[in-house]
Amino acid sequence: MSRQMIAGNWKMNGLTAEADALAAALLRGVGERAGAPGAELLVCPPFTQIAAVSRLLAGSDIRVGGQDCSMHEKGAHTGDVSPSMLRDLGATHVILGHSERRQNHNELDETVREKCVAARRAGLVPIVCVGETAEQRSADGHEETVGWQLKGSLPDGFADEEAIVAYEPVWAIGTGRTATAEDVAAMHGFIRAELKRQFSESGEKVRILYGGSVNAGNAATLLAIPEVGGALVGGASLKPDDFLQILSAAQ
Ligand code: 13P
Repeated sequence: MSRQMIAGNWKMNGLTAEADALAAALLRGVGERAGAPGAELLVCPPFTQIAAVSRLLAGSDIRVGGQDCSMHEKGAHTGDVSPSMLRDLGATHVILGHSERRQNHNELDETVREKCVAARRAGLVPIVCVGETAEQRSADGHEETVGWQLKGSLPDGFADEEAIVAYEPVWAIGTGRTATAEDVAAMHGFIRAELKRQFSESGEKVRILYGGSVNAGNAATLLAIPEVGGALVGGASLKPDDFLQILSAAQ
């Protein structure tokens, strides 16, 4: 099993001074932990801060990613940002199909899949998000929902050593309500089984992150669950001390 990954999704937060301060604090914090092998570390600032944060973190072990990208390479797509534009700024990863994009921008599984193809073509590692709503879970439809999302959002050839899926139950995002260890274990096991069904043995290679109210207090428990390959952290990734504590809990 590869090292765990701790990824911070800054969402729509961070003017220049805040983003610079956050990146500098992470750099200091990681520098102070010198020698510890630890987890892979990724931060995903808003588009506007990717260039500056990449420059600040250049030469460190902290990678930078986008929070979305276009499915198109270039052309008449006003307001969109292509995967190669992200690469050009120093990004190595991109979050795709986050529930906030599925909800607020009507992104369908097909859209996510096409973005995923474009991102991989440009040399970015996509982090594809899946997860059920509270209604779907209370109707016992969580596995069915996530199963369809995986089938619809992941393109052929997706499952290689770098591939990442993030399970983020919508009801746990920004609510302080984390899924129980039992629920996380069951869903990650289900996702692994689905990945193997979809991609045969290669399905074993995919790293499965958990996201949804991960914080310094619950990270150790969540990261110790089988099939949890790391965490995708929202709110707590804006607080360097908390984010570094989550990093310390990783294996
Ligand atoms: P919170 O950690 O704020 O719940 O957000 C999770 C998330 O959406 C990460 O992508």
